[in-house]
Parts: sequence; structure tokens; C-alpha cells
Amino acid sequence: MTAEKTIFKKIIDREIPATIVYEDDRCLAFEDINPVAPTHVVVIPKKEIVSVDDLSEEDEALVGHLFVVMRKIAAELHLESGYRVVTNCGRDAGQEVMHLHFHLLGGRGFRWPPG
Ligand code: AMP
Repeated sequence: MTAEKTIFKKIIDREIPATIVYEDDRCLAFEDINPVAPTHVVVIPKKEIVSVDDLSEEDEALVGHLFVVMRKIAAELHLESGYRVVTNCGRDAGQEVMHLHFHLLGGRGFRWPPG
């Protein structure tokens, strides 16, 4: 039995549209369809990993790459006054899409602790 593709895998495979802001051989970044901040970009690895909880040592360089890409996107989008990077992992965190992703949020102030 073949597992159903996630929405994000369908975006990687260009089966559904997205507003892509960055792409390279290892990752993709696109605008969130339901933004919670003036800037809300979703950054994902092309490798199918469910969440942080599914990372292994072989993914260390990939995750580091995603963070460097987020720093570059933040600079390009002029988020000089600050931004937040969030990843939801599992049910208690409210993860909806079972493909590892980082929310890059900016353009407004954020509270701490998060809800
Ligand atoms: P999470 O709750 O961390 O799993 O976040 C999933 C995110 O994916 C949410 O912010 C959704 O708005 C976003 N999302 C779902 N479908 C799409 C889509 N087709 N294009 C862009 N973002 C999406």
C-alpha cells in the first residue's frame, strides 16, 4: 500500500500550486496559505521527514541548511527588527501537516510564552 502524499509533498512535486519564495536541491520555501503574520513562509526539506521527532544523525547537515536558508529569506524580506522560527511536532503542538516544516514569521511582534 502506498501512503497518501502530504500537501507539502504535492507542492514539492508541483501537483498543487504554491507561491514559492526559495528553492534549491534540498529544500523549498513558500508562502503559508493561511498566514498568521505579515510574513509567514513555510520552509521544508524535499526529503520526506515527518517531524523533528523523526530526525536522525544523517539529517544534521540538512537541518542546518534549512536554518541558513531561513536566515537568507529573512534578510531578503527585510525582517531586520526580528522574526520567529517555529516548528510544531506532534499532536500536542498542533502539527497538521506530517512533513517537517519550519514557520518563518515576521512583520509584527510576538508574545512569549506562545499559546
Ligand atoms: P502545522 O500546524 O505546523 O502543521 O502547519 C501547517 C501549515 O501549513 C499551516 O500554517 C497551514 O496554513 C499551511 N498550509 C496548509 N496547506 C497549505 C498549502 N496548500 N499551501 C501553503 N500552506 C499550507
